[in-house]
Amino acid sequence: MKAVRRENGSLQLLDLPTPEPGVEEARIRITAAGVCHSDLHLARGDWRGVPTSGVIGHEAIGIVEALGPGAERYVKVGDRVILGLGGTGGGYWCGACDYCLGGQPRHCSQSKGIMGVFAEEFCVWAKSLVTIPESLSDLEAPLACGGLTAYGAVKKLVDHGIRPGSAVAVIGAAGGLGHYAVQIASSFGYRVVGVDIGSDRLDFAKSLGAEATYEPADAIERTKAEYGGCHAVLVFAARLSGFELGLKLLRKGGLFVAVGIPPSSEGNLSINPFEFFINDPTLIYSAVGTVQDMRELVDLAVAGKVRSHVSRTGNLSDLGAIFDELESGQYLGRAVITDLSR
Ligand SMILES: [Zn+2]
Ligand SMILES: [Zn+2]
Repeated sequence: MKAVRRENGSLQLLDLPTPEPGVEEARIRITAAGVCHSDLHLARGDWRGVPTSGVIGHEAIGIVEALGPGAERYVKVGDRVILGLGGTGGGYWCGACDYCLGGQPRHCSQSKGIMGVFAEEFCVWAKSLVTIPESLSDLEAPLACGGLTAYGAVKKLVDHGIRPGSAVAVIGAAGGLGHYAVQIASSFGYRVVGVDIGSDRLDFAKSLGAEATYEPADAIERTKAEYGGCHAVLVFAARLSGFELGLKLLRKGGLFVAVGIPPSSEGNLSINPFEFFINDPTLIYSAVGTVQDMRELVDLAVAGKVRSHVSRTGNLSDLGAIFDELESGQYLGRAVITDLSR
């Protein structure tokens, strides 16, 4: 089978043996794999301490084609499934520790990620699979990470008592994750303020349901004038400047939800303790989501409330070119590999 690997920072398209599913694993024939910005960061070695060799790809749709011992309890051969769970935490969790029982399996000390779906076939822990109906297109593969990550972040607003009708800024509103967050937050009843750069991107955010859209340069003034500051911000920016802007858009006592991960070289987010005291923000990070979140998101997508905006499709061998295009911000939304065999 064909598969892509990173070898010291460069991508290689290889012929590898078909993997055999282990205990509680299913082998999936991948029919579509989304290209996530995290794959690009991994390919470029942007995150300190993360190895520059290994497999990549963590959002996919496919068909179950073989089961390891015990996997029959979760799926059957022929099921159409979405897999990836945002890469981290979906490959295994113990199910018995404080974190697992408390609904945060990603923090389980035994948790493993899902990585390597840029391949024709892939073995994955069957418990992390979510079955999907035929009505959901293969082009919805990016729901498995981009969509799920946005959904998990919007759900945190509810968990922290942000009521429907509240003003929620989405920084990076037209991006690969932000475009989902605008749709999901709108469907939850929030008044979405989309922040992005350039009129094309702002128009796109508006078409997805944003009530107002601002450029970063005038976002602070305009959100203050129109909304008295935001009740919450969702920061999808891959640059530290987006994080700094997010803090400034909040009203007093607001909720800051970080989602993007700027390169380590950009340094730290700093906050002055006196301003912390005066403005009293709640700062949290939101990463990916759970199997239950994935099921809820699939339901929203089937109901037509959220859709992946896919601007680019290609073959496995196009991955390097897609990374270059993604890096230079050549298109809105996501890219999906629709032929894994070449
Ligand atoms: Zn656990
Ligand atoms: Zn991802």
